[in-house]
Amino acid sequence: MKLARNAELETVFVNSIREAMELPRTGLHRSSLFPCARKGKAIQVLKIKLREDEALFYAQGRSVHAFVIGDRFQPVEESLEKDGILDTPDGWTVVDGQRVPVEFKATRLSSRDFLDKVHQSLSSYRGAVADYLWQLLDHCLFAGTETGVLAVLFFMGDYGAKRKWCPDCKARVTWGQCKGCGWEGKRTELRTYTVTFDKRDFGQRWQEFETRRDLYLGTDDPLMVPPTPNWMCATCRPGEAIRCQWFGKKVA
Ligand code: SF4
Ligand SMILES: [Zn+2]
Repeated sequence: MKLARNAELETVFVNSIREAMELPRTGLHRSSLFPCARKGKAIQVLKIKLREDEALFYAQGRSVHAFVIGDRFQPVEESLEKDGILDTPDGWTVVDGQRVPVEFKATRLSSRDFLDKVHQSLSSYRGAVADYLWQLLDHCLFAGTETGVLAVLFFMGDYGAKRKWCPDCKARVTWGQCKGCGWEGKRTELRTYTVTFDKRDFGQRWQEFETRRDLYLGTDDPLMVPPTPNWMCATCRPGEAIRCQWFGKKVA
């Protein structure tokens, strides 16, 4: 047998993944305004392209889309438009006879930290979970539905395969199983949530869309666009390029 790394093919593959992951940037897209319009402006003005590791990171999340095909989930690149802003849900499915948008996520967060039921208001959520929910709300806003579906692939499940001690009863875990209480760890997990949003959330969000759109379109200087500090500031390359004061900061 012979085995050798093929650097030439690696480049070909990585480049085609990169190409596939670059978003079509014609028109004003939702992602230019949220989570941070300043970041969107910096990407537009400085023409910041995805780095190899970023493209691969996004590909990892998108790869699962291809497998969930069938009449319950349709991954289609269908762009919705509302007052000059474009939005593209990951796909569509049917809930109670209604066609609703789907937001697909892939994450290294533990499924143990993700709630199965939500009773609080949307604005009380922070971090990645809030980001997922707001993104889904936006798809619903553009699609004109109150309900949408959030599907989350937890790459690491609940980190069950890595645990030594049971998270429930603290007994020793062997091969991902607890002999004490029967807890079974999950190596990888897919969870799907039906989410129905409050009417008032839509109204407030749309106002925010209009405000950000006007600020975004009103200048060519990213630093003139008010920042929206968020959990991605710590690694925000566009923010770094324009010396945004929030770059590198940890924001919850
Ligand atoms: S560092 Fe944060 S606030 Fe600054 S542009 Fe990036 S995302 Fe926006
Ligand atoms: Zn246990």
